Amino acid sequence: IAALRLVLGDQLSFDLSALDGLDPVRDRVLLAEVADEASHVPHHPQKIAFIFSAMRHFAEALRQRGVAVDYVTIDDSANTGSLAGELRRFVDRHRPPLVHVTETGDWRVEQSLKNSGVAITWHEDRRFLCSRTAFARWAHGKRQLRMEFFYREMRRQTGLLLQPDGTPEGGVWNFDADNRKPLPRGLHGPIALRFVADDITRDVLASVRGRFAHHYGSLEHFDYPVTHAEAEQLWLHFLDFGLAAFGDYQDAMASGEPFLFHARIGAVLNVGLLDLRRLCHDVEAAYRQGRIALNAAEGFIRQLIGWREYVRGIYWLQMPDYARRNAFGNTRRLPEFYWNGQTRMNCMRQVIGQTLEHAYAHHIQRLMVTGNFALLAGIAPPALCDWYLAVYMDAFDWVELPNVLGMVLHADGGYLGSKPYCASGQYIKRMSDYCQGCSYKVAESTSDVACPFNALYWHFLMRHCELLQRNPRMTMAYRNLARMAESKQQALWLRGEILLARLDAGDAL
Ligand code: SF4
Repeated sequence: IAALRLVLGDQLSFDLSALDGLDPVRDRVLLAEVADEASHVPHHPQKIAFIFSAMRHFAEALRQRGVAVDYVTIDDSANTGSLAGELRRFVDRHRPPLVHVTETGDWRVEQSLKNSGVAITWHEDRRFLCSRTAFARWAHGKRQLRMEFFYREMRRQTGLLLQPDGTPEGGVWNFDADNRKPLPRGLHGPIALRFVADDITRDVLASVRGRFAHHYGSLEHFDYPVTHAEAEQLWLHFLDFGLAAFGDYQDAMASGEPFLFHARIGAVLNVGLLDLRRLCHDVEAAYRQGRIALNAAEGFIRQLIGWREYVRGIYWLQMPDYARRNAFGNTRRLPEFYWNGQTRMNCMRQVIGQTLEHAYAHHIQRLMVTGNFALLAGIAPPALCDWYLAVYMDAFDWVELPNVLGMVLHADGGYLGSKPYCASGQYIKRMSDYCQGCSYKVAESTSDVACPFNALYWHFLMRHCELLQRNPRMTMAYRNLARMAESKQQALWLRGEILLARLDAGDAL
């Protein structure tokens, strides 16, 4: 063997840097399904099945291209259960003079490979636009980082949605304010594209069912793309049927509509079945051909070259200390209903329910329902981060940790985002139909049937007054609090205390 090329489960791209200069005959590619990665948090069974099946299909596609592949399945009796163990086992057997690996998406995994005792030639992950070093250069000397300025830089670098003179298309960089419409009555998302399991996927499903049945989440509805060709179909379906309405309704939520106009491509993009640059160019082309409005194109491209690259940059700049940040000093346990959806709060029941069923919820459901509740209730950051990492198909540490710890919980004290995304039930009422089917009353805040989000919102503002009231983006909220009669403030505080005590006692609310 001339060289070993290790490919991880989220690196399934033919042009991965670890495969540069691959000699299909003299080199060997290694892929390994390992128990450690499937269970260091209790990943949703659909997520495990998706990654294993995509890995097996990728290995098959490499073999069809004449590449020598070693593939270790989870059921292999010799499997050591860890990536470092499998790497060492291969090296002990074949003694390759060179071992190529592309930098990982997870700090913990990269450390384990670096500590494996195997000499590795590391390669940059070119699938991202902004390298770790380029991001560090951009961030250098800045006391606070802001996604908006990073995003403008990326627009300039890529030329996406720019006019010939270098100014942004439409005269402004960001159309976020045009992306927040609630769903009009009677409007439904397109019919979701479903992918039928082939023999490889059926084998994986049987194996996952046998080994990971104790993890939360259903395997019944598995219908994800697992090959590059299927991922392409999913993408084209979104371009044809989702993208035009995505701009207006990307923040909307509706009962029984788990996907609405969202692309659902996060998982396939994150494991390497789609290419980021190509997606951006397709979206820009759709805009230039007059098929979609500018707010739809800009909103989508911002998610990809703005938020996605920004959170990855922060992750690698700040790890491992970032994972320990806890600006509010929160210690509350994650309520059990996050794992089973059994609560009377309809918004939480809907979002957690679809998460268990599909391993999917869109960004506003994650940020403003399950995330908002955890922020208001003071859930300990590691517990919530582990939950998000476990239950979402597209969640990998580099993207999940900054989004949850920084954006959802504001636990980094405002390093990633300028304010906490806290909201009362009024926001959920405006952006969804959830409140109509709820046992709680969204218009009430202190009665026994009052929406829990309301009192918890004010309780959150009151208990973190010292940390937050000088934040210019919180001025309005604190002004509203100051205008409130003291008796009302006391009633809200009391109701908040009761709700938190009930959570501590294991009550599902
Ligand atoms: Fe959620 Fe409150 Fe609305 Fe119920 S009333 S769905 S708890 S926001």
